[in-house]
Amino acid sequence: RCPAMQTDCVNLYYGQKQALFDVTMPVYAHAITALIGPSGCGKSTFLRTLNRMNDYIKGARVEGSVRLDGEEVYDSAVSLTALRKKVGMVFQQPIALSKSVYDNIAYGPRIHGVRDKTALDTIVRNCLKLAAMGEEVGSRLHTAGPSLSGGQRQRLAIARALAVEPDVLLLDEPTSALDPISTMKIENVLLSLKKQYTIVIVTHNMEQAKRISDYTGFFLNGRLVEFDETARLFANP
Ligand code: ADP
Ligand code: ADP
Repeated sequence: RCPAMQTDCVNLYYGQKQALFDVTMPVYAHAITALIGPSGCGKSTFLRTLNRMNDYIKGARVEGSVRLDGEEVYDSAVSLTALRKKVGMVFQQPIALSKSVYDNIAYGPRIHGVRDKTALDTIVRNCLKLAAMGEEVGSRLHTAGPSLSGGQRQRLAIARALAVEPDVLLLDEPTSALDPISTMKIENVLLSLKKQYTIVIVTHNMEQAKRISDYTGFFLNGRLVEFDETARLFANP
């Protein structure tokens, strides 16, 4: 299995404070990688280094290498718009969902220049299906995002991220605010997506990592202290 992404000796500083130390990790293609570890150990910070979300944090500085299909993500010639199209992200609290279901999903494609109504309709329908919402939403495409349940909003966030056809999908604790049934639906969506996408998920839930991931990275105090196939990492000695 080849890595879609690879980090080498990544250090991250928030001002004077170092939050990541020498993190070297592959992100294998068409697999789910879970990042686990106690609160504050650097999981979210590491996730954000993969698509340069840290660029938005004042004082954050990265050293080392992050490659996507062999290309250096931190190269000054890299377009952030192009990078974020390839490496999409879903947050714990879904962002900017005030619009309708349709407009949420069409948002990214419109930014990338898709204007054709039929093309947008197709994208919206496909992404709803990928996020297991096709039937739930049905014809109610113009329902406002906020009127959906928490679990539906989070699946809408996934549909929205998929709409620009990323290669890699990053998720930061996407189920930590959800009930068990909504959590299970999201897990099933992620499992169904991994044939097509490369997925990295931050979770504080070890059971979730065991249930859905192929690889697990365990962080402690800003260091990646273990990385292995999930089945091996959690195997009883
Ligand atoms: P985790 O996701 O494992 O809970 P984080 O990556 O959020 O950990 O945080 C790692 C460390 O970096 C923590 O000490 C946290 O307080 C600090 N940190 C996270 N974000 C910022 C930020 N924007 N500015 C300064 N420090 C931050
Ligand atoms: P998480 O562990 O999911 O990152 P946190 O509660 O640690 O959640 O962080 C929530 C937000 O606050 C994040 O955007 C993070 O970057 C920011 N943050 C966390 N720690 C700090 C910090 N010490 N200084 C500034 N911002 C921080």
